[in-house]
Amino acid sequence: MADAADGTLRSRFALRARLLSPLAEGGLLDVADGLLETDAAGSITRVGQWPERDAPDALDLRPLVVLPGLVDLHVHLPQIPNAGLGSGLDLLTWLDRYIFPLERAYDRGVAEEQAPQAWRAFAAAGTTTVLAYAALWADSTDAAFAAAEAHGIRAVIGKVMMDRVTYDEGIDPVRILETSLRQSDELAARWHGRDDGRLRYAFTPRFAVSCTPEMLRESAALAAHHGAYWQTHLSEDPGEIGEVRRLFPGARDYLDVYDRARALGPRTVLAHAIHLSEREVQRIAESGARVAHCPASNLFLSSGLMPLGAYRAAGITVGLGSDVAAGPDLSMFGVMRAAAATQRVLELTGRAGSSRSLRPIDWLRVATLDGARALGIEDGVGSLEVGKEADLIAVDPRFTTPLPGADPPTVADDLASRLIFRPHPNMVRAAWVRGRLLAGPPGLEGIG
Ligand SMILES: [Zn+2]
Repeated sequence: MADAADGTLRSRFALRARLLSPLAEGGLLDVADGLLETDAAGSITRVGQWPERDAPDALDLRPLVVLPGLVDLHVHLPQIPNAGLGSGLDLLTWLDRYIFPLERAYDRGVAEEQAPQAWRAFAAAGTTTVLAYAALWADSTDAAFAAAEAHGIRAVIGKVMMDRVTYDEGIDPVRILETSLRQSDELAARWHGRDDGRLRYAFTPRFAVSCTPEMLRESAALAAHHGAYWQTHLSEDPGEIGEVRRLFPGARDYLDVYDRARALGPRTVLAHAIHLSEREVQRIAESGARVAHCPASNLFLSSGLMPLGAYRAAGITVGLGSDVAAGPDLSMFGVMRAAAATQRVLELTGRAGSSRSLRPIDWLRVATLDGARALGIEDGVGSLEVGKEADLIAVDPRFTTPLPGADPPTVADDLASRLIFRPHPNMVRAAWVRGRLLAGPPGLEGIG
């Protein structure tokens, strides 16, 4: 049973709390006084109303709210130290000035120091699943994986691949093609599927500007061979799109560059995807590729406003990404807020189409279950449902009230609204993956 003293839920455990979660079949789990139980492997065996009789011995987390852990579909580990720098620069200038020097320096030593801190910071923000880019270097990617393995977070990571336009002229693009493919292949063999699938590999060609057609094609073939993910950036900013047109004159459009590499499919995650033609939207939907919407980043770099409603209507699976460091904050609650603001602006300027405006509770679904669907792991995580793994966070809604002592909202949509629009950096008190408590959040002392 649970060790209530330190909240270390390593084995079978039960907790009592307010429960709030999207459900796979649609609708909402919304229980004011709920029970969630797991087995020794960290799978949820029971979830619902706190029983009036035969109640189990449980960790009492009231008045905390237990939610599914949040999913961050797009973030760059080496960039985290420069989060919040360079607002308003265009993408390519920002990369040169603030990002490439940091990534260049992200060697094994830096990764061994920073990656454990980064995983703790994700957990403190309530994120339990991360799809991340490392840097060009295999050794620091390996160190980031090792840190995730030790920490307990669910992580998909990839070594960045770039065989043209890379950090600086000191890197030989011809050698880097062969080296990058071999090293990525080795990393995937080592890490993809590790710990019963908690850790996975993503082949990570940075974007079309940085890659030759051969790099794109060969990386996609390796991803298919390993059954691993393939991630890149798509149509983030007008300068970048112009550059892609210049480099790939034979392609119909930006998306076609990746299509010709046979890189589009359900294990492909395309970040940003802001400035797309109707053809590109239809082709993404048809291919089954997923989109990581990064609204905080898109506002920070003035990249544009992604028309989420149109993509959802087309049948594309879209989750949310922080895109730190272009996004200033690891908190997915902050990303939900930026997503809502982006959709408001589209509505106000008549560009939202006929899509229904998302409610706060809908944004929680996008940041949890839809993120899991984007990774194809929705049968295992993304909601509080029997049979799924216990990837959970406990949030103290009292932090979100404007004046101390006031009661947090009881209506689910109001509660979600406070978490998104008035979040507090310390409101996530605990985070678990497969029932294992993650280091990072302040903990449950004084609760219950
Ligand atoms: Zn990015």
